[in-house]
Amino acid sequence: MKNDLDNIINAQRNFFNAQETKSIPYRIAALKRLRSEIHKREADIHKAVHQDFKKSEFESVLSETGIVEKELNLLIKKLASWSRPQRVKSSMLNFPSSDYIYKDPYGTVLIIAPWNYPFQLAMVPLIGAIAAGNTAVVKPSELTPHTSSVIVEICNAVFEEEYVAVVEGGVEISTELLSKKWDYIFFTGSVFVGKIVAKAAAEHLTPVTLELGGKNPCIIDHSAKIKLAAKRLVWAKFLNGGQTCVAPDYILVDNKIKADFIKYYDLEIKNAYGENPKNSPDYPRIINKKNFERLEKMLVGEQIAVGGTTDASENYIAPTIIDQPAMDSEVMKDEIFGPILPVLGYNNEQEIDQIIRSYDKSLSLYVFSTRKSFVKKILSTYSFGGGVINDAIVYYANPNLPFGGVGNSGIGGYHGKQTFDTFTHNKAISKRANWLDAPIRYAPYKGKLGQLRLFLKWF
Ligand code: NAD
Repeated sequence: MKNDLDNIINAQRNFFNAQETKSIPYRIAALKRLRSEIHKREADIHKAVHQDFKKSEFESVLSETGIVEKELNLLIKKLASWSRPQRVKSSMLNFPSSDYIYKDPYGTVLIIAPWNYPFQLAMVPLIGAIAAGNTAVVKPSELTPHTSSVIVEICNAVFEEEYVAVVEGGVEISTELLSKKWDYIFFTGSVFVGKIVAKAAAEHLTPVTLELGGKNPCIIDHSAKIKLAAKRLVWAKFLNGGQTCVAPDYILVDNKIKADFIKYYDLEIKNAYGENPKNSPDYPRIINKKNFERLEKMLVGEQIAVGGTTDASENYIAPTIIDQPAMDSEVMKDEIFGPILPVLGYNNEQEIDQIIRSYDKSLSLYVFSTRKSFVKKILSTYSFGGGVINDAIVYYANPNLPFGGVGNSGIGGYHGKQTFDTFTHNKAISKRANWLDAPIRYAPYKGKLGQLRLFLKWF
């Protein structure tokens, strides 16, 4: 593989240097070919995702192919105008000049994807890389082999390896890829691996986007529409079997309404998945044994208010509520990433503050309340990637909103125009005219300092 990788990277560098990917019609044609291949293979994609972890076709359309399609359509439509050099106001210090930002691709980029939205999280960054004029190597997750195979087939049908290559494999291949010099690295995955990626990138001073995870708080105050909150949170927590980076991780609910919230939540679980969610065609499984066992441990010794049943033979964990876990319990240590929801009651805002501040900055934060002042305070007090008022997750679906973390939950962002911007270097160009050459900047400087100070003050 070592030589293969070097060959692929060299071929991609040569292809990038040949300037073909800088042509706008070339990029648009490539994205259109990709779109039609994805259309052709849509049923195969959904089947593969289902084989990987029993995700329903509905959820696959909603959160895999639907999102990819929207991003493709937007970037195909807009990339010509986004790629144009952008004229900006000139500085009088350089008079006369005209100034521009040229939209430059980075070159050869590496995209490393996780398993939890295995199609979408590999393809959307790839679409951005192509739209911006780069060549790309994509490494899908080894934990979703069926989806990974379809990604290989689609990319092989659409692209030459010198333009886009898919490299399959686990930690070993990923490590090998990270040891190479890239012009940009786009990584989605855990905080732990994010740090490995950042260190590897630092070796070559390669810029990175890190899309990571964290413990996303969800605050429900006493004024919230509690039945609707419960319904929306059942959807948000159990979508993808709870294996979503932007899922609400834990609930902080006013003690006055906590019992009601749990009652409605239980009811909404039954409405969504029936008396036994194991039999529901809409309820996904945990991705593998390791994650199943990690999650199962969180249930031990806890007060289970709802659910709590498991079946190791299917990696099944029922939609579960843990009532009032201790802060040092397994479930409150790290990101849960599964269908287990800890519910913690609070009596006052200081208790909310204490809990949220005991964790690193989260990827998302959700607040359910009809009190404007409370919502305003929560949004302005805490630093987090993005969030929703009176719902959860849905901000992810708006391409006009940038998506990304802050601090421990990530660096950089994408979606919509920001997907294009992420894979684009802003090259600053000043074009000077020759008809005037103000003498002030040239040595000897004697007697010119006063003039300079005046100039700096005015312009
Ligand atoms: P992961 O970090 O284990 O793996 C992600 C990728 O990194 C995979 O392709 C894997 O092969 C590779 N990898 C794993 N170990 C590696 C190592 N030691 N060195 C180099 N590469 C390695 O993450 P995962 O389990 O696939 O995904 C779950 C995590 O991803 C969660 O923490 C979740 O919050 C996060 N996530 C974030 C977003 C986001 O957009 N912010 C989206 C989805 C998932």
